[in-house]
Amino acid sequence: MTIYTSPYPAVTAADSSGVFDFILTKRGNPNFRADRVALIDAVSGKQVTYGELASESLRFADGLTRVANLKRGQTVLIFSPNSILYPVLLFAGQAAGLVVSTANSAYLPEELAHAIQLSDAALIFASADTLDVTIKACQEAGVSTDKVYVVPGADGSLPKSLPQGMKRYDTLRGSDSFEPVIPTEAEAKRDMAYLPFSSGTTGRAKGVALSAFNITSCVLQTRATKGHFDQADNVFSCLPMYHIFGLVVMLHLTLYNGGTCVVLSRFDLVKALESVQKYKCTTALVVPPIALALAKHPIVDKYDLSSLRYILCGAAPLSADLEGALAKRLKGRTRVFQGLGMTETTSVAMVPPADESMPGSVGKLLSTIEARLVSPDGTDVPVGEPGELWLRGPNMLLRYHKDEKSTRETLTDDGWLMTGDICTRSKDGWFAVVDRSKELIKVNGFQVPPAEVEGCLLTCPLVADAAVIGVWSEEKATEFPRAYIVPNPEHAKSPTLQRDVAAFVASKLAPHKRLGGGVVVIDEIPKSASGKILRKDLRALAAKEAQGK
Ligand code: AMP
Repeated sequence: MTIYTSPYPAVTAADSSGVFDFILTKRGNPNFRADRVALIDAVSGKQVTYGELASESLRFADGLTRVANLKRGQTVLIFSPNSILYPVLLFAGQAAGLVVSTANSAYLPEELAHAIQLSDAALIFASADTLDVTIKACQEAGVSTDKVYVVPGADGSLPKSLPQGMKRYDTLRGSDSFEPVIPTEAEAKRDMAYLPFSSGTTGRAKGVALSAFNITSCVLQTRATKGHFDQADNVFSCLPMYHIFGLVVMLHLTLYNGGTCVVLSRFDLVKALESVQKYKCTTALVVPPIALALAKHPIVDKYDLSSLRYILCGAAPLSADLEGALAKRLKGRTRVFQGLGMTETTSVAMVPPADESMPGSVGKLLSTIEARLVSPDGTDVPVGEPGELWLRGPNMLLRYHKDEKSTRETLTDDGWLMTGDICTRSKDGWFAVVDRSKELIKVNGFQVPPAEVEGCLLTCPLVADAAVIGVWSEEKATEFPRAYIVPNPEHAKSPTLQRDVAAFVASKLAPHKRLGGGVVVIDEIPKSASGKILRKDLRALAAKEAQGK
């Protein structure tokens, strides 16, 4: 067996620490200063200090336990875009010993219903902008809207009257003398703290059970890459906090370092440029389409971005060309690099050292984790050859929540996570992602499980059979889902068939799952003898079509 180890110094997380005390107390966080600014709303300019963030989190922890009567281990689901309130809700849940699950704020009713059911949400914080979706999702999941507490929408306000039993979030604001729950060593390692969603290597979205120990470990492991991730940065923060990259690297790591998150509810190029300039952001965390906008859009030259020390890109591949173009645009003052992360690894798994670079690579193995590159027959590939990346270490998920089968298919008995990413490793320890053996499609860094889109297509009256693959768009620096469909015979001649199928999907699934890669009609979906879709054949077809253009 060839096991690769990390070049970075090993770290040990505190055995007994909850996420709240690790980030928001002097005991847990050596960089905690009550009067430092933790969060800035990039649009309104409103600021929240570390002291305020801690006391507000305790107030809501008090309300969650005393008013909403939640018990340790129950789940709170947050369904909202970023705001400076979002971290309060996260840390309140942690202080109260609850599990916090984070749903994509663009979900449509069926997707949210799935998240509510999967997480067994005992209480839902929903943005005022999403109440129609929330009501329908509650109906579909068979849960009462009495469980819903409404948080302000994008304009910062709450509706005057609330529908069907829903309450204002601030009815949960209690006393900041609440004593936060600090788990024992066994609890910190065993119990779920966060429950984000990921499809893993196959199938629909699953709940990824992460412990407090996973979170504290991953923050310390990432910091051990000395030089870039261990400073009190002003971090441009537009990544969604419901996704692991935003949750752990953008939020928890920044706050552990005593830095400031300059929060945008979602990416907007002009607001982003204004924010970086105005708040002199020292780092920015981005996904490839944002890197593309920063590298190519003419408006970027109008802004002073010289405060940026580095830009870290993640969640999807960043080409060496784009990495180089962005670094050049920023006049070589800002380091641009990418890392590899996964929800299942509590975010980071690979990052480059602060003083070395290798464009196109995702860096070197994170501190305190081990890696193998494995061939389909389960043996390690010869050194230098591509193989499936297997990882082991303190930041690997506990399990998929309520899904033993997927857990067994993903985690080996001796603790290896089979990532479904095909990687190579150079002699000096640089990894590159060269392919995926898993089904996942990534659109702007968001997960699109093909099986979910296929499931949706099979409920469309126009479609007899369907398969979905990802197709790469150089122009947009992302993949998009493309559907191959066999139409129902009576609709086969419809001149609007493709458009109608795409519209059907758009009406059922969140925007990032739309068929941006097109709808292609074929006679038959290629399948193996056991009925499994042969995506490889479809990918070959797509490559041929692209060549023919
Ligand atoms: P998620 O759990 O949404 O973060 O998705 C994790 C997956 O995104 C990984 O297993 C990879 O397939 C992909 N991914 C993340 N970062 C990169 C990267 N820098 N290059 C290529 N793929 C990436």
